[in-house]
Amino acid sequence: MTFGNWDASIHSKIDQIKRINTAKQIKNKNIVSIDAQRQTAKISGSSGELYEVTLNHCTCFDFNAQRGPCKHIYKLAAELGLLPPLPMFNAEKAETFKQSIPAEVDRFKQQYLAGAISADKFIKIVNALNSK
Ligand SMILES: [Zn+2]
Repeated sequence: MTFGNWDASIHSKIDQIKRINTAKQIKNKNIVSIDAQRQTAKISGSSGELYEVTLNHCTCFDFNAQRGPCKHIYKLAAELGLLPPLPMFNAEKAETFKQSIPAEVDRFKQQYLAGAISADKFIKIVNALNSK
């Protein structure tokens, strides 16, 4: 995945995966305008603010705070066809993962019992592992 001036490795960091996932939730009606030639867009936020977006820059708070691609940049990249599809669900791999869950739960239970993680964190991990 390469667009703008970003090193492709940035997009697989967990915080960026969250932003890519959030970008999918931006409704098309929030794209006020898009210029495919110049690779720019104006995207409105949830409370009506208007963000000026390029593949390298955005006027939103998140971009200014972290200086990395925000959800608006990912939305623009997706609209321009520059964002490769996210991993597809794979039933075989899902089944293999499902079978590994008891061992994963046990691994985190040992961390909990050793005092390395709180009961809250242990329960959240177990719930996440067992969620859809
Ligand atoms: Zn932004």
